[in-house]
Amino acid sequence: RIRPEVIPANEIGVTFADIGALDEIKESLQELVMLPLRRPDLFKGGLLKRCRGILLFGPPGTGKTMLAKAIANEAGASFINVSMSTITSKWFGEDEKNVRAKVAPTIIFVDEVDSMLGQRTRVGEHEAMRKIKNEFMTHWDGLLTGPNEQILVLAATNRPFDLDEAIIRRFERRILVGLPSVENREMILKTLLAKEKHENLDFKELATMTEGYTGSDLKNLCITVAYRPVRELIQQERMKDMEKKKREAEGQSSEDASNNK
Ligand code: ATP
Repeated sequence: RIRPEVIPANEIGVTFADIGALDEIKESLQELVMLPLRRPDLFKGGLLKRCRGILLFGPPGTGKTMLAKAIANEAGASFINVSMSTITSKWFGEDEKNVRAKVAPTIIFVDEVDSMLGQRTRVGEHEAMRKIKNEFMTHWDGLLTGPNEQILVLAATNRPFDLDEAIIRRFERRILVGLPSVENREMILKTLLAKEKHENLDFKELATMTEGYTGSDLKNLCITVAYRPVRELIQQERMKDMEKKKREAEGQSSEDASNNK
């Protein structure tokens, strides 16, 4: 049976430094996630309340998954990736206790949460789907009450309006991860190329030219450009090869000509 992907904190590999721009979001996440996970004692009183769930919403490729991984990494929390393709209702029922015991503190990340927890009233919703949804909600409540202070649910969606109202309410904080501004595109490009060799690159101009690009689009652009020297090298090799063949053919024909004399 398929299991959700569990990544221990030391194997997550994504840090805040790998994420360009999005400074305000990073700060909010630190406040909402790090503190309750690292200092649960501060939340034992009545005033400070632990956030039960955070929803990151915005267009695809804007860094939502990266943010969730980076915050888990910084908080020293395991990262459990739950999505429609990895979920089995059995996992929640049976192994929930194991998860509590072994991997706390933990961030449970539900990617494309709309596909799993979309509107309950949607016509033609499959019975099995409804069961998964209800079960998730019940176990979510179970995980977040009592001794499970160190478990937090983070979710991402490109379609917040498709979410069930009851689900939206559970996410006490909803954070928009929108398209990057020109300044943010410049910062993202600088982050993406921080370890690459480049000369006279005008980051400002590049940022201006890439209006509407997401972080993911900018990364793809950088990869395409980075491949240019590789392509040139291949082209040069081909040319050399062709010239060699041409010379060989010419040598052969002049040999043939002198033999025929
Ligand atoms: P989706 O909704 O499609 O799942 P997402 O919002 O979760 O997208 P990510 O998967 O986090 O987006 O981002 C896709 C890729 O784009 C990342 O792996 C990363 O390489 C790059 N990327 C996106 N935003 C940034 C950023 N701010 N800084 C650096 N890289 C970024």
